[in-house]
Amino acid sequence: MINLMGSKIRIQFIITAFVSISFVNLMGQDKALSPRIANYVIDVVLDTSAKRLTAVTELKWKNTSSKPVSDLYFHLYYNAFKNSESTFFKERGVPRFLTQGIHKECGWAWSNINKMTDQFGNELEGSMNYLSPDDSNPDDQTVLRVILNQPVLPGETQKFTLDWEAKIPRTMPRTGYNKEFYFFAQWFPKLGVYELAGQRFAKEDQWNCHQYHSSGEYFSDFGNYEVNITVPQDFIVAASGDLFGQSKVGESRTWTFKVEDVIDFTWATSPHFLIQEDNYKDTKIKMYSYAYKEDMGSRYIPTLKNCMSFLEEKLGPYPYPTISVIDPPIHGMYVGGMEYPTLITTLSFCFFPKGLKIPETLIVHEFIHQYFMQMVATNEAEEPWMDEGITTYYESRILDSFLNPESSAAELWGVNVGSKEYNRAEYMSSAHPKIASNAIKSWEYNHGGYGEIAYNKAAIWLQTMEGLLGIELMDDIMKTYFQTWKFKHPGRQDFINIVNEKVIEQRPESFPDGMDWFFEQVLYGTEECDYAVASISNEKRPSVRGYFEDYRNCEWHSSSDDKYISKVLLYRLGEVKVPQEIMVMFEDGSSEMHQWNGLERAYELIVPGYKKITSVQLDPHRKIYLDNNFVNNSYSLKTEDKGVKRLSAIILTGLQHIAESLTMFL
Ligand SMILES: [Zn+2]
Repeated sequence: MINLMGSKIRIQFIITAFVSISFVNLMGQDKALSPRIANYVIDVVLDTSAKRLTAVTELKWKNTSSKPVSDLYFHLYYNAFKNSESTFFKERGVPRFLTQGIHKECGWAWSNINKMTDQFGNELEGSMNYLSPDDSNPDDQTVLRVILNQPVLPGETQKFTLDWEAKIPRTMPRTGYNKEFYFFAQWFPKLGVYELAGQRFAKEDQWNCHQYHSSGEYFSDFGNYEVNITVPQDFIVAASGDLFGQSKVGESRTWTFKVEDVIDFTWATSPHFLIQEDNYKDTKIKMYSYAYKEDMGSRYIPTLKNCMSFLEEKLGPYPYPTISVIDPPIHGMYVGGMEYPTLITTLSFCFFPKGLKIPETLIVHEFIHQYFMQMVATNEAEEPWMDEGITTYYESRILDSFLNPESSAAELWGVNVGSKEYNRAEYMSSAHPKIASNAIKSWEYNHGGYGEIAYNKAAIWLQTMEGLLGIELMDDIMKTYFQTWKFKHPGRQDFINIVNEKVIEQRPESFPDGMDWFFEQVLYGTEECDYAVASISNEKRPSVRGYFEDYRNCEWHSSSDDKYISKVLLYRLGEVKVPQEIMVMFEDGSSEMHQWNGLERAYELIVPGYKKITSVQLDPHRKIYLDNNFVNNSYSLKTEDKGVKRLSAIILTGLQHIAESLTMFL
């Protein structure tokens, strides 16, 4: 249960009261957490009547390679909403609720760099061109290449100034405005990642800068941000990082936010934000919602604290001085359920039944992304399982750590659903669980399965890995992975390498060659896993009879003390092969465990002894969460229903055979 006692949730409308006092944290921090490759100072003005952003960006980019770099690649995400021919809309189609909004207010959008100069005064806007590296779509303008006048030398940091403008989209996925609610994600010209040879899949030094696709998210480099946001006087700004002051400029107000060692910067504004504040240790929690959703704070904030505490213990502390949570209004729900550095969004309606744990699930999920996406900055577009799958795996673990695992997803009208089971059902009940593997890019799920495979399936095979290795080793692996790769950009092989190192070191007797055999099946493969108990038999051990030593003497004796030879027949129905544990239960109530390597299609377990086997449970501790049918994992001779069902099935099959035989004579 969530204990709300002692929680000091302060509600305030007075914006000046929460101007940061934690200057020390940012300004005094001389030790950089990240390599700080792409650093931005942005002055942006929001024009709420023209729905425009006008901005100047001062960008400092460091070349970490050993060769000069003579171009820069930028994401211009807002151009995905420029017209119906962008790759984003060609992949997604233009949903009706968007087109209605677009037509009403011409809610299409764009982003344009009007002027760009380097630190030597060279003007670069003449050497820009749009590229479509993923699909060659000539109408897509979401990737912009700028050829430099003077290359950035190895180890050098160069400064560029960009004058740019953007038209704000109306209610587009993850960004835009509706009424007086504005949400700015992927809103500024943002550099791609210059990957060095050997990093992830890069064979040579190169820009990694994908177009904006309908599925899949982002990839960018670490840096510091200072963003000065000018909005109408009565608007409140929520943003990544901490507020460092605000000043009145005529009818407007400029809010200054700073954040260090992050991969992105996001903000939102509305005159109607209600702010609730709290703390988790040294981190300030700032929750922004609308007055009619004020009560949701009592569900979100304690949940967030539980989540922060769990991750701190299992992986390491959250190192930023703030975490902001935006619970958007109903008319802003298109931005809900997203994660950005030090800022996450949730989604709730005025009243969610307490038993439906969607708000809890969402805030936990989005906060985990601060670790897997933000700090361990994987490429969300190329390897979506590395953030979404790992996050979904932790989502269940965290919810189960402070809620009842049997009902951590829902507890409503007498129906209980655990979070793990919910995620498993999402995958198992999908239209085509084998539609794709976890080794493809997000936009390659073009026939479906993105959510089920990238989120749910990956979470389930991570859960299965935990079952096979044990939770201590799993926690050791994940902590090592986090600590090794935080503030870097790992790829899947980097994760696999850590798993293999740890497993070979700590489980040589079970997995002497590591876990490649597992990843081949679950990460690169599409097959399903299903093991079943087919039958149990208890035969009285026959006596040994006949002539043996002496041909004149017919013998009749028992060569063993065993009374029964009991047999359990097991099937591997799926293609995935994983070792199995078998619990055999006897008539006297005792039980014993047996092992099977799970490789053959069928396996007969022979158990001699004094007592009859009454039931068998395959994988009794639910270690193999990938098994797609738990019902056939158990078999009991006592279950009359099952017996009756089997009997009627035999009779029906028999009748069918008789009928088929008769038709031969007709
Ligand atoms: Zn997610």
